[in-house]
This record gives sequence, C-alpha cells and structure tokens, in this order.
Amino acid sequence: MIVDRQGRAFRNLRISLTAACNYACTYCVPNGKRLVAAQDELSADAMARGVEYLIEAAGIERLRITGGEPLVTPKFEPFLQAVSTLKLKDISLTTNGQLLAKKLPIIIDNGVRRLNVSLDTLDAEAFPALARGGDLKTVLAGLEEARQAGLKIKVNMVPLRGQNLDQVLPLLEYCLEHGFELRFIELMRMGHLARDPNGFQQQFVRLAELLEIIGAVHPFVQADAPIDATALRYQVEGGGYFGVIANESVPFCRTCSRLRLSSTGWLHGCLSSSNRHFVGDLLDKPRHLALPALQRLLVKALADKQDIAFSGGVTVMKIIGG
Ligand code: SAM
Repeated sequence: MIVDRQGRAFRNLRISLTAACNYACTYCVPNGKRLVAAQDELSADAMARGVEYLIEAAGIERLRITGGEPLVTPKFEPFLQAVSTLKLKDISLTTNGQLLAKKLPIIIDNGVRRLNVSLDTLDAEAFPALARGGDLKTVLAGLEEARQAGLKIKVNMVPLRGQNLDQVLPLLEYCLEHGFELRFIELMRMGHLARDPNGFQQQFVRLAELLEIIGAVHPFVQADAPIDATALRYQVEGGGYFGVIANESVPFCRTCSRLRLSSTGWLHGCLSSSNRHFVGDLLDKPRHLALPALQRLLVKALADKQDIAFSGGVTVMKIIGG
C-alpha cells in the first residue's frame, strides 16, 4: 500500500464511466451544452481491469461509479458485471436518477445496495433551469422504485444562492419522509467556477448559513461519522439524518482517501490539483508489466493531494465525476 507522510492512502476509487451526461447543470457545465462521450473513452473491459489493477496496486477497498452520467452509457452493465466479481467491500453509484427506474434490475442484480441521487430542487419549474435536461417526475419515480427495492439512498443537493436556497427545507422534509439521507454539498470552485471567483461567491452558501436555515425549523444535533468521512452528519429531532460535505468550511483534505479514474484513462489524486497521470495504456498490459508502472504513478498521484484546505481546480466535475 502507498501511504504519504500524513498517513493518507488511496482506499476509495471513483470511476467516471463516461463524460457524457443527459443534464448540463449550471454549476457543472458553463455553456449549457450537454457533454458527449469523449472519442478516446476506455472500454468497459479496460475500466474494469483498471479497478482490478488498482485494488492490487493501491489497496482500493470501495468503488463509486459516477460520471458524467453513468447510466447513459452502454458500458454500464458490462462494467458493473465485471467489477461485481472483484474483491471490493462496497460498490456504490452516483446518478441523476433519470434512468434509475429502467436500470434498477441491473443495479440490484449486480449487488449495488447504495445509491446517491442528485436532486437540486423539488420545484418542477425551477428544475429545467438548473439541470438543463431531464425532468423532475422521472427522478422522483426512480427514487420511489429504488426505495421500494430496499436500496440505501442518499440525495445530493448543491445549495445555490439565488437558485435553490428555498428548496433546502422542502428537500430535507421530502428526504426525512421517505427515509433518504440528504447530503448538502457546498459548491466547489471547479471548472468554470475556478476561473470566476465573483460568480462563485455570489452562488456559494456556506455550512453555517445552511445549518441556521435548517435549525430554525428542525432542531438537530451533530452525529458521529467515520474518521475518513467526507460529510458532517446531523441527527434531526424526531428522527432521520442529514449530512453536509463542507469542502470550504470544514475541509477534509487531511483524511482524504480518494482516487479518481476518468473515462479516458487519467488518474487524479486530488480535485484541487491540475496534475493527472495517464494509465489508459497500462490497462491492456498483463499485470506483471502494468502493476509496477501503476505503482510509480500512484506515488505521484498521492503527492498531488493538498495538505490542508480544498482550493478548487479547473478540472470539470463531469470529467472526473465529483
Ligand atoms: N451525473 C451524476 C449525478 O448527477 O449525480 C454523477 C456525476 S455529478 C458530477 C456528481 C455530483 O457532483 C452531483 O451531485 C453534482 O451535484 C456534484 N457537483 C458537480 N459540480 C459541482 C460543484 N462545482 N460543486 C459541488 N458539487 C458539484
């Protein structure tokens, strides 16, 4: 296992299965154009081999499949089938939920039990302005089917001033009612937002303000969370939890154990670093040749991690999967 001087190692792998997405969320994609798959995206086979090699070379224990939108690509099923046979403690999925109902049998049959579904508003009129794709009803229907199937569901919401701050309480109440855990994600200075500090500041809502909005209506107490958890967790009086991924207010870089692999074969050790390391060409090689080379690149990727504070980066979230 490769460990840095802060004691950090890569344990969690996030795979962006494709850069293509059926949304073009305002804070993720600057020009509103939905991203299509890159021409040089890796095959499902190569990506699954990437996971297999990274389990051995880095000690990866948990896999999250993300994108782009992982459910839009035909690679989803063969990839999931292949990785479900590997020695992983957990496989989870982050999706916008548009294709959730349709893909649920594949998800369940291959052992995925945990989903994160992104949903920034329950207002059917505001939805298309924010997501610039898909529709609210379909997401809600997918969530309901997944709930009935017994999956453990977290809902991701990015609170944005001037766009969906009025949705903090409705979304929390909807999640509490349905047994979902709502995860607020503080807006990150990624992609176009990293180049536009004013635009970022105008939309950014910090943890303290969020807790004030919630606490005024739903009293809560802070709950325990694992040491390398990215989210602060709170228990609401009367039952149920919510979390906040407070990248800016309470950075978790010191305990970050994440490694990211893009759909075009680049390893990213840190969201705030523009460094990346190409491994696409190693994934066709037999393991005795691939693993030593991979290990050398993993040492570099681990050194890319920030020491203390998250500072953002120009990398677009859809390329590396948030
Ligand atoms: N398409 C899938 C989805 O919508 O969940 C997976 C990819 S999406 C990039 C993963 C998560 O990143 C979403 O919950 C999205 O809201 C979040 N995200 C994207 N850009 C962000 C930003 N600048 N700051 C915070 N969260 C962001």
